[in-house]
Amino acid sequence: MAQDLGVPVVLKFGGSSLATAERIRLVAERIAERHRQGDAVVAVVSAQGDTTDDLLDRLHELAPQPPAREVDMLLATGEQQSAALMAATLSTLGVPAVSLTGWQAGIATDRSHRRARIHGIAPQRIRRLLASGRVVVVAGFQGVSEGGDVTTLGRGGSDLTAVALAASLGGTCEIYSDVDGVYTADPRIVPDARRLEAIGYDEMMELAALGAQVLQGRAVESAWQHGVEVHARSTFTDGPGTRVHALAGTERSQPVTGVALDRKVARVLCQQVPDQPGSAARLFGALAEAGINVDIIVQSPSHEGRTDLAFTIADDDATQAEEIARRAVVQIGAGHVSRDADVAKVSVVGAGMLSRPGVASQAFKALADEGINIIAIATSEIKISCLVRREEADLGLRALHRAFQLADA
Ligand code: ADP
Ligand code: ASP
Ligand code: MG
Repeated sequence: MAQDLGVPVVLKFGGSSLATAERIRLVAERIAERHRQGDAVVAVVSAQGDTTDDLLDRLHELAPQPPAREVDMLLATGEQQSAALMAATLSTLGVPAVSLTGWQAGIATDRSHRRARIHGIAPQRIRRLLASGRVVVVAGFQGVSEGGDVTTLGRGGSDLTAVALAASLGGTCEIYSDVDGVYTADPRIVPDARRLEAIGYDEMMELAALGAQVLQGRAVESAWQHGVEVHARSTFTDGPGTRVHALAGTERSQPVTGVALDRKVARVLCQQVPDQPGSAARLFGALAEAGINVDIIVQSPSHEGRTDLAFTIADDDATQAEEIARRAVVQIGAGHVSRDADVAKVSVVGAGMLSRPGVASQAFKALADEGINIIAIATSEIKISCLVRREEADLGLRALHRAFQLADA
């Protein structure tokens, strides 16, 4: 007879939490503990340690530009290993457990390899297993396309697996990593960063998109869409963690909530482009067609009918973006294209800045006081981003953190 499941709990463990046999055992103990308490537990696991990067290195050695389908076939094995290792370890603790790949778990995606979107989840198999008293261990970061191919969900995508499963099962979502919550800055770069009790979906999404890798941006977006509260916690200590949920305006007392750093950016510079209607449309149209996301765009004042156009992209896209820009610029009848990989983006994020003028100037001054030159600026209602030289980025991040007094609440 099927037993009443109650509210299932989805617990996600990241790569660093599973890096060694000892850590897998420790995580298994945590899962076993929840199971003994009577929780219906779904555990989502990432690939161990640096497995994903190692697999990519091995692949690129053999195929510098591998077909995206094969990238996904390969990368998905990392999470599959973790799931089997975890389920087997749980069984040694007397906990009945079953591991499932993404497709076995019913996770259906579109066909866009390496950054697939989840279309839907058929949770029946997981429900049946939970009802039979088992812990279900799901390989994170992967699904299956309509065509029956293995897909992956973008870097950090196990977070998305966890959120999507929680939404589909009507469960709660806890994301465990080597840090005990979301901080005002990456504590590895800013030692006096402070843990936040809670953060709004909007700000967390912005921080994640701007480089705070503690949660995947798309996972936060999905949590927001489905109203899933995400609880970010430490694998290794028992603390209150950080709750990511909808925050009311009155709960935002500070203009700035956190700062973030993204080193994985590059800049493409197109010089001496004819300053005429259609130039930008042609260039950015070609980039959009290739699926490349363009971030900060700067056009300099025109001089004798010519202008310089610079834009930033993720550094994974830099080679392709430079090639496309070179072709487009030839068609437009111009100039010179070059690439600058020695840049990084520092950002301040806060929904509270909407109602306070002066945040931008305060940020620029903080950077200037450290002698840091700003190459380009981008703003939205809740963020200010500055492109700086990569070697100055850590210093810049600490300066911004200090300027907005984020260390002391
Ligand atoms: P996992 O492997 O568990 O998915 P990640 O390495 O993806 O974990 O994310 C955890 C790391 O995110 C931390 O070790 C920390 O250095 C980094 N990080 C960056 N920004 C922040 C932030 N604002 N708060 C907490 N951690 C952050
Ligand atoms: N292993 C994948 C990555 O490194 C997914 C994840 O860890 O969430 O990006
Ligand atoms: Mg992660």
